[in-house]
Amino acid sequence: MINLELPKKIEDTRVLLRQFSRDGLRPLSRKYDLAEQKEMPEELYELSKLLRARPNRGKDVDAQPAGETTNRNGNNLSMVVSSAELCWGDVGLFLALPTIGLGNAAVSAVASAEQQAEWGELFAAMAITEPGAGSDSAAIKTTAVLDGDEWVLNGEKIFVTDGYRSKQVVVWASLDLTLGKAAIKSFLVPKGTPGMTVTRVEHKLGIRASDTAQIVLENCRVPKANLLGNPEIATTAEARKKAFGGVMQTFDNTRPMVAAQAVGLARAALDLTEELLAEQGIELDFEKSYHQMSAVENDLYELEAEYETARLLVLKAAWMADNKQPNSRNASMSKAKAGRMGNQVALKCVEICGQLGYSKAQLLEKFARDSKIIDIYEGTQQIQQLIVARQVLGKGSSELK
Ligand SMILES: Cc1cc2nc3c(=O)[nH]c(=O)nc-3n(C[C@H](O)[C@H](O)[C@H](O)COP(=O)(O)OP(=O)(O)OC[C@H]3O[C@@H](n4cnc5c(N)ncnc54)[C@H](O)[C@@H]3O)c2cc1C
Repeated sequence: MINLELPKKIEDTRVLLRQFSRDGLRPLSRKYDLAEQKEMPEELYELSKLLRARPNRGKDVDAQPAGETTNRNGNNLSMVVSSAELCWGDVGLFLALPTIGLGNAAVSAVASAEQQAEWGELFAAMAITEPGAGSDSAAIKTTAVLDGDEWVLNGEKIFVTDGYRSKQVVVWASLDLTLGKAAIKSFLVPKGTPGMTVTRVEHKLGIRASDTAQIVLENCRVPKANLLGNPEIATTAEARKKAFGGVMQTFDNTRPMVAAQAVGLARAALDLTEELLAEQGIELDFEKSYHQMSAVENDLYELEAEYETARLLVLKAAWMADNKQPNSRNASMSKAKAGRMGNQVALKCVEICGQLGYSKAQLLEKFARDSKIIDIYEGTQQIQQLIVARQVLGKGSSELK
């Protein structure tokens, strides 16, 4: 039976991360929003060592409430709860934390213990998007050709989160452009590998503390073993579908984590709004009946309900992943709902707080700017809805585009 109660170990970590967010991230929020990627948040590198040292990190958290024997609340649940707490602090700084890279999940999912030991501590960006391939990731044109014991990569990647600061980049490339999706594989490319160059860093609306880079690969050579997962190109139609499904499966774990960013951000906006209203002498008494409550109380009720819906969808998608249940549909639902909710809540909080909400004196305007990207990257809201629709209607990607 589904059980979304947080085991004590995860709850203890959550409390610790809230403290880290409040005392470590928040005081730096404005500084690095203004500095954009011109300055590295070096204070964080020291602080994040504390996170690396924390118990349970990266391990399955096999602790369940007494009496439960069938539920496993493990790594995915722990990761969504941690992501939300750190994003309560600051989404941009969270993305800039070493070891948080989106590529880490892709590597951890397939790399052997020996490979992981050889590659060392990971801070891996994920490079899928290209000038001609955004939502349609199967349309990528970057190529990988085997030459002796090395893969030779050529192509251009854009909008790579942490592409500048990360230590490695997971690059999606095709082994044979004529074979479509089945030939797409991912490769770990360590920074400093000749032929891989960061050519531009973007200026952005939000998450400005995090860098977003363009990367060019020109005859970039990596060892044969740096192909992540199975190097074979599937030949039958069924096996091809399965092979690309394998690459896409990473998203079943990462989408709830990205959705959790919106959950943390929305909680931050709601908490700050209630704090600012209290400072202005506006008392919120949620015990009043519908006929007696003020307009602002009614607004906040609605926002809290939206928040809770998204939060529960995210926990459920992560719980399903931990319990080895197919969760593609739920992962997409959680991402579509949370992305939209984060945006809606943050903008409404700006509106409720009026001048204070819009002014740079407070962080609400920044939360509103930061919120939009969560609705876009790791698959836009529209694409998540498309995936859900395909699954509900039992249609493939060629039937429902
Ligand atoms: C700040 C930032 C960070 C990013 N980080 C990364 C990263 O780390 N790694 C990476 O690989 N990429 C990253 N991206 C890229 C991101 O994943 C893409 O922007 C996203 O997938 C959308 O692709 P696109 O921008 O090309 O838009 P398009 O695919 O051109 O879509 C444009 C609009 O059309 C809609 N649309 C497209 N197709 C359909 C359809 N079939 N049905 C309905 N609507 C549709 C989309 O929802 C969107 O609203 C990042 C982007 C940004 C802005």
